[in-house]
Amino acid sequence: MTKFVYDFAEGGRDLKDLLGGKGGNLAEMAGLGLPVPPGFTITTDACRAYLRTGREPFGLADEIALHLEGLERQAGRRLGDPADPLLVSVRSGAKFSMPGMMETILNVGLTDATVGGLAARAGDERFAWDSYRRLIQMFGKTVRGVPGEVFEHALDEAKTGAGAADDTGLDAETLRGLVERYKHIFTAHTAEEFPQDPHEQLRQAVRAVFDSWNAERAVLYRRQERIPSNLGTAVNVVAMVFGNLGADSGTGVAFTRDPATGERGVYGDYLANAQGEDVVAGIRNTMPLQDLEQRDKASYDELMSIMSTLEEHYKDLCDIEFTIERGKLWMLQTRVGKRTAAAAFVIAAQLVDEGVIDLDEALSRVTGAQLAQLMFPAFDLSGAPRRVGSGVAASPGAAVGVAVFDAHRAAEVAADGTPVILVRRETNPDDLPGMIAAQGILTSRGGKTSHAAVVARGMGKTCVCGASLDVDLHEGDLLSVDGTAGAVYLGAVPVQPSPVVCYFEGTLSPDADPLIRAVDRLLTHADKRRRLAVRANADTGEDAARARRFGAQGIGLCRTEHMFLGERRTLVERLILARTTEQREAALAELLPLQRNDFTDLFREMAGLPVTVRLIDPPLHEFLPPLEDLAVKVAVAEERGEDPGHDRELLDAVHRMHEDNPMLGLRGVRLGLVIPGLFAMQVRAIAEAAALVPGARAEIMVPLVGAVQELEAVREEARRLLTELGVEARIGTMIEVPRAALTAGEIARAADFFSFGTNDLTQMGWGFSRDDVEGAFFSRYLELGIFGVSPFESIDRDGVGRLIRIAVTEGRAARPDLHIGVCGEHGGDPDSIRFFHDAGLDYVSCSPFRVPVARLEAGRSAVVAAGSDTR
Ligand code: ADP
Ligand code: MG
Ligand code: MG
Repeated sequence: MTKFVYDFAEGGRDLKDLLGGKGGNLAEMAGLGLPVPPGFTITTDACRAYLRTGREPFGLADEIALHLEGLERQAGRRLGDPADPLLVSVRSGAKFSMPGMMETILNVGLTDATVGGLAARAGDERFAWDSYRRLIQMFGKTVRGVPGEVFEHALDEAKTGAGAADDTGLDAETLRGLVERYKHIFTAHTAEEFPQDPHEQLRQAVRAVFDSWNAERAVLYRRQERIPSNLGTAVNVVAMVFGNLGADSGTGVAFTRDPATGERGVYGDYLANAQGEDVVAGIRNTMPLQDLEQRDKASYDELMSIMSTLEEHYKDLCDIEFTIERGKLWMLQTRVGKRTAAAAFVIAAQLVDEGVIDLDEALSRVTGAQLAQLMFPAFDLSGAPRRVGSGVAASPGAAVGVAVFDAHRAAEVAADGTPVILVRRETNPDDLPGMIAAQGILTSRGGKTSHAAVVARGMGKTCVCGASLDVDLHEGDLLSVDGTAGAVYLGAVPVQPSPVVCYFEGTLSPDADPLIRAVDRLLTHADKRRRLAVRANADTGEDAARARRFGAQGIGLCRTEHMFLGERRTLVERLILARTTEQREAALAELLPLQRNDFTDLFREMAGLPVTVRLIDPPLHEFLPPLEDLAVKVAVAEERGEDPGHDRELLDAVHRMHEDNPMLGLRGVRLGLVIPGLFAMQVRAIAEAAALVPGARAEIMVPLVGAVQELEAVREEARRLLTELGVEARIGTMIEVPRAALTAGEIARAADFFSFGTNDLTQMGWGFSRDDVEGAFFSRYLELGIFGVSPFESIDRDGVGRLIRIAVTEGRAARPDLHIGVCGEHGGDPDSIRFFHDAGLDYVSCSPFRVPVARLEAGRSAVVAAGSDTR
């Protein structure tokens, strides 16, 4: 029979799939001998079974009962004992941390019959009633769906009535009255009495945590974070310890290093006389953890020592939750902590310096996505913008937008394309849609560990918390929020490039600061490790030069079509309108020197490195004016009795060339085979340019090939020209039509190299017209889980990926020295790069700004074991 429940003594962090992160790490801490209250974990297996059937799986109730007995023995108290009741928390905890997205219920076990016993045991009436009212509030809200505001409202009234500034000012009598009021609220909303059987409370709480896996905000968060939707959550049942037992008690959150910058030191918030959830909710103002040293030196010292034990054990930054009950420290949670992109790099390099991890391990701990984030621009303050406030720098970046005070409204405003800054007192999980839609988040309460801060960092979104502003803000005011410095400016402040980009550009030295040093070090190591070469997609000398500064090892895709735009359009028109061979050849002859110049620039910037030039790909009518515009112009001219002349001719050409599905029409190699001299002109321009530039290494790439015969025809003509001009160049093909992938063995006979065009391959593999489908129904497909992320964003390993694997295997079998790369947009996507590495490609090619990201990911692919979690 499946085992559904694990005591903390039985688990460990290796069992994260089963016990969730929280449960696995609680067990891990217990195993390290740290002070963890006794408890047990109900597995994700049980959750999945429950969610599938709507019922607790057979045997679960018995197992829980058995483990509860064990817990009671360890705690020396029994659930429901009127003289000395055991209370427990019932806590969610999935494999991947989803901060605040699911439910936790504290103080389960309090009833009318046990509240007196708790008061007597603690010698504190106030505490017992405070705990009871918290239970009814939390249970009512999360288990039975009673609106939280109703309880909040009653609490506020009690505070006003008692003249208390905050909840600690309420005495036992007031709290007892509040409990009565809460029970009425509960009954009014559920038509039931608040459950007075502690075992029934426990049962319902466990179900509620299971159900919270599918709460709307959890679903939304998972989609945003690409967490699979079928994992389920574990449930942890933990003996309560109490931070609300007076001034010598309290609760806190801490990091072993600064999660924003990676700097070493003590970072945390502490709140005296409070229960756990108060800190994160920002209900009262917390004090810095350092101040705990004066209040309770023994606990503080123990905490510091536990923090270093944890760092040593996890070999990484940890974040923790703890509670002090009358001078006794309890550990309630730990995990390898979330951190900003900058901190990730700095910490990884620091740990190498400290001899804790090696460079391979360090490399596996930073991601391409994080590096991409560090390449974002920051504010340019040279114009002395008006600073109207400051707060905690909770999540870095530079965000500009209009202030909106409500999350739903923020989502609405942003949907119209207006950049928004979400401004809240504090955020809670209900604000998630607004947080996702906003450019940045600004709150007036809370610190680095508040909900807003944690969620923003996870999303890579700019956030300033606990800010005080010296102006009255109105909805619609333009704001600039600096999450790196914790500053707020009125108006739109201009932004400047990131220091990391300046370092890549060579304008900032590699040891400018700890972050640049770390990036330099880890990228250097990635370069040493990676097997994939990284090239750039570039079609101008300027882009090529930047790509080279960013570390590109050549150009994997030069699109020649932009060279037909601008003032050259008239030449293309002449080419299309040509009636005789002479007219056509004259137009091509004029295009030749222009193209030659374009290529000369590229070869010069990339001297010594390969430059792959793709022959013209899109259908020619894309270079003509749109049909509707022309038709109107001609009609107007004719109406006025004027001669539309050239426009008439153009219109006829557009009509002649009109296609219902241009994506599947006369383009790529088909165009080259239909319009005599077009490809030959391009090949000649490439060859002549290569002959002019020392060190030029031209590669000629034929687009949209589906059959080897197409490639052979083009290749033969190109070979002749190259020989004639005495230039050497490899000739290869894009693999972007499914048929090409499936006949790669044959095609390889005529190709020196393959380059996967993954955009077209995805489009034709799925039969999706990219320009149409993404807006039309992809969101529905994502909702239905047909794919977890758009296949245009991250390569579809099973389908399109299979085509790639077939082409690699059969291409190499036919031609062992076949050089293989990818030049579609997937070449810069971290997940896809991993796949290309595994599939045995030789290089990826991506946009110049993505080159460092690809270098890093290629290095990580080489050191992170295939199939392991890299999240
Ligand atoms: P989350 O995943 O949202 O952090 P938790 O399960 O960690 O939720 O619980 C919420 C808060 O309640 C935390 O601050 C935690 O420290 C506190 N808490 C949970 N269990 C206990 C317990 N047994 N005793 C005291 N406080 C607890
Ligand atoms: Mg927690
Ligand atoms: Mg293509």
